[in-house]
Amino acid sequence: MKHLLLLLCAATLHASDGKLIVTYLGMPEHGLAIVVQTPSGKTWMIDTGHQSDKYDAGRDTIEPFLKARGITQLDGIAISHPHGDHYGGALWLLDHLPVKTFVDTGYSARGLALAYSRIRQHAQERGAKYITATEGDTLDFGPELTVEVLSPPKQMHNTDTDPAKITEHGLLNTNSLFLRLQHGKNVFFFPGDAYGTGQRYVLEHTSPERLKATVVTAPHHGFNTHPEFVTATKPKFAIASCLAFYAGSEVPSPGDKLKDQFEPLGTKVFVTAWNGNIEITSDGVDVTAKTEREGK
Ligand SMILES: [Zn+2]
Repeated sequence: MKHLLLLLCAATLHASDGKLIVTYLGMPEHGLAIVVQTPSGKTWMIDTGHQSDKYDAGRDTIEPFLKARGITQLDGIAISHPHGDHYGGALWLLDHLPVKTFVDTGYSARGLALAYSRIRQHAQERGAKYITATEGDTLDFGPELTVEVLSPPKQMHNTDTDPAKITEHGLLNTNSLFLRLQHGKNVFFFPGDAYGTGQRYVLEHTSPERLKATVVTAPHHGFNTHPEFVTATKPKFAIASCLAFYAGSEVPSPGDKLKDQFEPLGTKVFVTAWNGNIEITSDGVDVTAKTEREGK
């Protein structure tokens, strides 16, 4: 009993010692899953990785990680956009942990898969409060953090565009929930898979001061980071959740491209395929990074 108590205390301390801990989870299949542990001990997921016949990011990666940290419930799951590499683990998590809030953009236009609509519905049936968030809205991650939505706008990007000119895939990506999280002096960007239009919109509608960042999640796994987004944010750390190799891709790994883009600015680049889990800790003044593997 004594040991259990000690363990519980250690877990609680880890989550609530006044620091913000953001962990990008390394996964065997292409996807994005970020665990945000707030200074007051709340836990949010931003995206939940992929699910396939042999792998479920919720079952195989996220839940074991949360358990190891003594986390038994989620204050919220925010899904950047309804693609399977971002919501794949959500069903497992909803069925196996209490989840208080479920957030997405409320996207309902072309390309919305029935599988995702069912998850949105299921979240509510499981007791989660469903919130739609678009530009100008804020999310409640606790009093120490300001979490603002920078994109998409309420009317969404390009939904009126001729379908021949934008694919469903592109439409969903560019309408990703684009979050700016501030903890003291530190600013984190979580852009999901926002393509050119989504990134340009944020560049045009956000003051240069508010675009400066400490930690940037590379948009679209590092495949499509706008050069202006790189220079405007000029972060200390840039992080991509991607695989080491993509068959048929123009680059061996988007990580190599990211290093070319960010390193000249003095930014340190981390890639889940190379580094495994990437843990960023913020004390509100500085940020530090800890990775499972050294990377390249
Ligand atoms: Zn994706």
